[in-house]
Amino acid sequence: MKIAFIGLGNMGGGMAANLVKAGHNVCAFDLNEEARQKADDAGCTTFSEPDWAVEDAEAVVTMLPNGEIVKSVYEGSVFGHAPAGAVLLDCSTIDVATAKAVIADAEAKGYAMVDAPVSGGIAAASGGTLTFMVGGSDEAFARAEQVLGAMGKAVIHAGAAGAGQTAKICNNMLLAVHMIGTAEAMKMAEKLGLDPQKFYEISSVSSGQNWSLNTYTPMPGVGAASPADNDYQGGFATALMLKDLRLAMEAADEAGAAVPLSSRAAALYEDFAGAGNGGRDFSAIITTY
Ligand code: NAD
Repeated sequence: MKIAFIGLGNMGGGMAANLVKAGHNVCAFDLNEEARQKADDAGCTTFSEPDWAVEDAEAVVTMLPNGEIVKSVYEGSVFGHAPAGAVLLDCSTIDVATAKAVIADAEAKGYAMVDAPVSGGIAAASGGTLTFMVGGSDEAFARAEQVLGAMGKAVIHAGAAGAGQTAKICNNMLLAVHMIGTAEAMKMAEKLGLDPQKFYEISSVSSGQNWSLNTYTPMPGVGAASPADNDYQGGFATALMLKDLRLAMEAADEAGAAVPLSSRAAALYEDFAGAGNGGRDFSAIITTY
């Protein structure tokens, strides 16, 4: 299949390479020349203009930084340039409102389109083990699934347009809350004289169990192996968690959803990132206790 790929950064570079490995003809574009060169080395055909990359494409995949850029790339370089009838897949993490608006615009112009944000980081992108949460019509999902299967281990149809972004930000909002809750409980147990490893052994099989405690334990040398054991390097950067929390807060406002605990978590991550911790794994927030 001829697939255009726009946005060949940390995530997109590995994803485009996996489409090549699966036998697709990948026509790639990024504003950054170094990113284009890497894609070229991985077997993509690269272009210096995005509208050339999408010409004759049966599918267009985008992996871009934010909603504003996604909107401008689709309006400026995809709509009217990719053949009508092509399936469009935006895998970026963006705000729900923009995702819905761009998909409505695409459908009005004769394209099938899905929002398909991912769970999993750079290693999962290059290893082809991402999870895709997909929003869009049944028809668009069925076509998108064939493309996404080559880049991930799971492709889940979340619902109508925007449902993929909704699933992603609600999941990460919950993750922020249980990471902070886990950090507070572990540090308080320690202050009260309980060995944190004992707390882990007890709580990880009791009603306090959760992914942050059981699988991603934020304290070095305690519980599961995690970025905490590597000075909070690697893993899921605080800056990316903060990006998702800002999108979640925006969506909560728009929906009129009450999120008192999550908004406190978002404020704590704002402070933590603002203190120069944006590049550290998000579990490092425990070091502020
Ligand atoms: P990145 O900054 O490494 O890559 C983005 C790429 O888009 C860059 O190469 C940039 O040059 C390119 N770009 C920007 N504007 C462009 C334009 N107008 N036309 C063409 N290319 C353009 O970011 P990333 O880490 O690859 O993340 C991409 C998306 O994936 C983001 O929405 C992010 O939130 C999401 N995401 C990232 C991770 C992660 O661990 N990095 C995990 C899950 C989701």
